[in-house]
Amino acid sequence: MSLLHHSAAALLDLLKGKQITSVEIVEAHLAQIDRHDGEVHAFLRVDRQRALDQAAAIDLRRQRGEPVGALAGLPVAVKDLLCDQNELCTCGSRMLETFRPPYDATVVARLKAADAVLIGRTNMDEFAMGGSGENSAFGPTRNPWDRNRIPGGSSSGAAACVAAAMAPLSIGSDTGGSIRQPSGLCGVTGLKPTYGRVSRYGLVAFASSLDQLGPLAGSAEDAAILLEVIAGHDPRDATSIDAPVPRYSELVRQPLTGLRLGVVREHFGAGLDPEVAAAVETAIDVYRSLGATICDVTLPHGRYGIATYYIIAPSEASSNLARYDGAHYGYRTDEASMMAELTAEQKQVQAAGDEKALGQLDSPLVRMYRRSRAEGFGPEVKRRIMLGTYTLSAGYYDAYYLKALKVRRLIAQDYETAFGQCDMIIGPVAPTPAFKLGEKSDDPLAMYLVDLYTVGANLAGIPGISIPCGRSKEGLPIGLQLQGPALAEDRLLRAAHMFQQAAVWHKARALT
Ligand code: GLN
Repeated sequence: MSLLHHSAAALLDLLKGKQITSVEIVEAHLAQIDRHDGEVHAFLRVDRQRALDQAAAIDLRRQRGEPVGALAGLPVAVKDLLCDQNELCTCGSRMLETFRPPYDATVVARLKAADAVLIGRTNMDEFAMGGSGENSAFGPTRNPWDRNRIPGGSSSGAAACVAAAMAPLSIGSDTGGSIRQPSGLCGVTGLKPTYGRVSRYGLVAFASSLDQLGPLAGSAEDAAILLEVIAGHDPRDATSIDAPVPRYSELVRQPLTGLRLGVVREHFGAGLDPEVAAAVETAIDVYRSLGATICDVTLPHGRYGIATYYIIAPSEASSNLARYDGAHYGYRTDEASMMAELTAEQKQVQAAGDEKALGQLDSPLVRMYRRSRAEGFGPEVKRRIMLGTYTLSAGYYDAYYLKALKVRRLIAQDYETAFGQCDMIIGPVAPTPAFKLGEKSDDPLAMYLVDLYTVGANLAGIPGISIPCGRSKEGLPIGLQLQGPALAEDRLLRAAHMFQQAAVWHKARALT
């Protein structure tokens, strides 16, 4: 079997047994990237030399019998929104095209401390805003299962690179579904942890009360290995949870007994593709055969999830993105562009230097801000900034933002009630399999509706995992979502692993 089809767990065993070197593993994945990434475009940058040097250094240490970290020698791809000291971090945006952070994100520091090989930076929707991967300023990622289709987003490259066997593990971020939805559409396993489980320090913020980092992998077992490394308290992130990190990598293999799964019947109504519904029903049967009991639960405020999310996320984004003005951070326009903004009449005023008339014009600083933002941000980011600025403005704040916060609370309470009746909620991740590139580009609302089943977990701060559970007639992966109460990552991983022992959808890779 090719190295590319081994799980991360198996590769780590081979490395420990000295049956294989990290250089061999990295070379195999780099070759796969060379073969396919021209088309898939999962990566924005691959630093071959750095990856090979890291791998060689770890091999040497292992040879000498020196202690090595938990991921020693294993390639991990990182979404291009986590700071890695002095390395480019673009967030899929022209705005940050040349940004080199002066420090490491905590997750990156933990990966380095675990001796992971940072193989490359993955493509993403600009500032993580999107659900298709098409909003990257550097061109879309394509679904490795069908290059005419989207891989999902915003962690488009993070999901596609695992699906295409270009990396065994990757890190994504999830604000409203961005780990789970692309995982579902690409047939990989992706976990959004509890809000605060993984440090956000050094993550370029989109919506700070919703953002969470997490693992994407080929299986629940592999996701557990990666989560164990990145999770944990961080004094640099005030929202990080100060609770010990369970040994996910060991716990994952312990089956759950007496598992009670809740099905939200509302989720099987309008908008759900029949093939997705059928695959999820079959997955529920698998759990039944594994001894789980299934009950119906309800999330009565779930229908307001999209509306609530698309007020809160843009509100926070409009505030977080205010720093990109060409002076504090980000792309700065040039003089010619600022001049081009002026009308002929205004140019005359400027040339004449008439102080009083000049006072009527916007100052050069304001024009610089305006041009920089107009040129640096793409259309979806601008749409969010405008929406968020509106919902936060005096007069609308109470009607929109404050109201949304109240509904958010009700949504969280719905989950609390539901988890009184079941251990976890089982259902779809995305309403349809991957759609065609361009299919929803002109219809932002249709794009937002894709997030129907995923935004709830972010609004409530609870964990959710997406695992492959079937294939459409056209051969496209279908995802299953499990959601649990806060800090139930271990239980979600165990339930996912039980499923993956019984059904092997997760083993298939799109490309060989
Ligand atoms: N698709 C959602 C959005 O566009 C979620 C994005 C995310 O989780 N980063 O906001």
